[in-house]
Amino acid sequence: MPKKIILTGDRPSGKLHIGHYVGSLRQRVALQATGEYAQIFIMIADVQALTDNFADPEKVRQSVTEVALDYLGAGLDPDKVTIFIQSQVPELTELTTYYMNLVTVARLERNPTVKAEIKQKKFDTNIPAGFLCYPVSQAADITAFKATTVPVGEDQKPMLEQTREIVRRFNEIYTPVLVEPDILLAANKSCLRLPGTDGKAKMSKSLGNCIYLSDDAEAVQKKVMSMYTDPTHIRASDPGHLDGNTVFTYLDAFCRPEHFARYLADYVSLDELKDHYQRGGLGDVKVKKFLAAVLEEELAPIRQRRAEYAKDIPQIYAMLKQGSLEAREAAAQTLSEVRQAMHINYWE
Ligand code: ATP
Ligand code: MG
Repeated sequence: MPKKIILTGDRPSGKLHIGHYVGSLRQRVALQATGEYAQIFIMIADVQALTDNFADPEKVRQSVTEVALDYLGAGLDPDKVTIFIQSQVPELTELTTYYMNLVTVARLERNPTVKAEIKQKKFDTNIPAGFLCYPVSQAADITAFKATTVPVGEDQKPMLEQTREIVRRFNEIYTPVLVEPDILLAANKSCLRLPGTDGKAKMSKSLGNCIYLSDDAEAVQKKVMSMYTDPTHIRASDPGHLDGNTVFTYLDAFCRPEHFARYLADYVSLDELKDHYQRGGLGDVKVKKFLAAVLEEELAPIRQRRAEYAKDIPQIYAMLKQGSLEAREAAAQTLSEVRQAMHINYWE
């Protein structure tokens, strides 16, 4: 069986947070070591970030470096994965143009993730055309690399659906040169769409409810201590609820059995801790302190590695340039097949 190919990425609209980490980044770091993938492409999606940050190009530019540092800090290895900048692979833009004919405006308007974002960004009826169409450009990104596998968070499901539809239409109308990709979601349910520290549905750069991979220990501690829990759990003796309780959702995402011996020896497992909370008699502060310790254990090495890499930004740029050249080569190959399939390869 031919080896699989990964394409995934993040928008440089800010630094990466622990939602990105558990939703996709942690998985990529694990996958790069499996040998299951012929190639792993990780894209910093600046063109997509510009669809709603077009008036703030400097933010996008700065964030490219921040996201690259987050990647390396989290453990992505440039010897195993190709990290590149979307705008430096113009083949992707050309593919987008051709795919634009294979979708309808009505179909784009039905995309639930885009719909929610339009509401959140208060675009109202002034929706930038580029923003509405970004799922098409995402289809170009994925198919340019003939990706079989796209490790992302749950909010990306509609994008993958849209991509598969475009692939099927293209292959049916022209020649079957494109590959239908599969989404790869985190196995742990709490990681699919990590809520913000405010308890809102999604931790998101745009909502200001994030714990960043680059936050220092003190900031993480502070954010955890002011996190949303169970509003009916007023006194420690009250029975507590787990549903929608963000502290427990984060523990589901990060806690491992060995953490108890290290930081909360009165308990042996998360189930036992949850039982006590639901029965009553366990205060939020104790649980939050435990969560802060668990998070610190995972984030401290990331933060330290990140700070090391941040000392040499020209080196980061060199890595991104090399990755972008490699990505361009792969995309150009697909584009040439696409042009042939579409009968626009005039000089060949
Ligand atoms: P923006 O608000 O600019 O869209 P974002 O925080 O939604 O930023 P993206 O760059 O759009 O981040 O998403 C990058 C990747 O991280 C995607 O795979 C997405 O599914 C995943 N992701 C983002 N937020 C979360 C979250 N809260 N939980 C799990 N995965 C997430
Ligand atoms: Mg997003």
